[in-house]
Amino acid sequence: MQPLDEKTLRASFVNTSRKELSDLTLPDDFDTLDFSRLDYLGWRDRRIARRAYAVVPAGPDAAAGDGPGSSGSGSVPGSAGVPGLIGIMLKQAEASPRTRAQCSLCQDVQLPNDVVLFSARRAGPAGRNGNTIASLVCSRFECSTNVRKLPATAYVGFDVEAARTDRIASLRSRVAAFARAVLDPAAPPTP
Ligand SMILES: [Zn+2]
Repeated sequence: MQPLDEKTLRASFVNTSRKELSDLTLPDDFDTLDFSRLDYLGWRDRRIARRAYAVVPAGPDAAAGDGPGSSGSGSVPGSAGVPGLIGIMLKQAEASPRTRAQCSLCQDVQLPNDVVLFSARRAGPAGRNGNTIASLVCSRFECSTNVRKLPATAYVGFDVEAARTDRIASLRSRVAAFARAVLDPAAPPTP
């Protein structure tokens, strides 16, 4: 994804109150992040238990300012949003999945890290009425790392590089779909 500065990152959020946004703590390594190896930026708030964030490139026509569910301004009064970028505040569910679960974004079959249930309040009036959307996601948002691992060769002639490219593309489209669903109050929950 394209590198972000703090101002752009904060302006991208679509489902936070002004207070929640002011409480947001940036990732520890924000200044040294290699955005070229990230399909989305996800992190946990180190000061607020269970709170996490994801900033997602979601296509040129996606923006907090003109998304279908955002009523023109997202949840942040006065925010114009950032075209093509959707920032989402997430809350980790109290209960953990009972068995080791697969992340619905990277769908890594080797389950290299914990996966937890995160929910996101929808943008705009829907979210203020308690409408949320939930998804199983790598607990520390390891998805971009997971899809860049070379898959085990499945058979002679199997194109591992092509498989990796496919996994990266799939992750990007799934995370964009999740972010767009936060903007759209009518969208069904993503897997
Ligand atoms: Zn994942």
